[in-house]
Amino acid sequence: TTILKFSYQDKLDEMFQRQMSESALRDGLTKAFNKRYFNERVDGEYLAAVRSGSPLALLFLDIDHFKRINDAHGHPAGDYVLVELAKIAHGTLRNEDIFARYGGEEFAVISRATDVAEAESLAERLRRAVEEHAFTYEGKSIPVTISVGVARAPREGVGSPAELIALADETMYTAKRSGRNRVCVARV
Ligand code: GH3
Ligand code: MG
Ligand code: MG
Repeated sequence: TTILKFSYQDKLDEMFQRQMSESALRDGLTKAFNKRYFNERVDGEYLAAVRSGSPLALLFLDIDHFKRINDAHGHPAGDYVLVELAKIAHGTLRNEDIFARYGGEEFAVISRATDVAEAESLAERLRRAVEEHAFTYEGKSIPVTISVGVARAPREGVGSPAELIALADETMYTAKRSGRNRVCVARV
């Protein structure tokens, strides 16, 4: 006996399959990569950076007083801000940068082969793009700013991906404490 198996995938089918596998990696609201994917990638990129000595930059960004935006304009307006912010980031970052939603209104960028000075200017470009963007929801304009923390590996005092994440996060809080709407860099 001869068994013939036919499998036919048309373009639509193929697109659907691709979207299904992509959507497992992405946050449903903003389409940024999700935290699980982010954690996997940080581990991989961290190891690669340590092995090669090529710098890896990690940016942590958090929307300033986001709770006030929800309180003043409603939760759907807050959602709109998150979606719009992700669009700005996708438009500002390089293709190879990994933009992820780390938590509610907190995002992260993994940028390989990026030294501290380049990472700082990338963070500053993002910060400014958000500040200058006209967020408008149901006819009302919503001013939005972000605080950004920048850290790099390999560096002294950082011995694991988790420590790099902690440093970027701490540095983001330094930006908050210094007045928000700013970029802070963890200097060596
Ligand atoms: P800070 O400047 O210190 O960061 O203040 P903040 O108000 O941004 O920070 P806080 O952590 O107090 O508030 C974050 C808020 O984000 C609280 C939570 O309700 C809201 N949030 C988290 N996820 C979502 C979401 O998916 N949609 C909306 N609309 N709000 C969200
Ligand atoms: Mg916030
Ligand atoms: Mg936060």
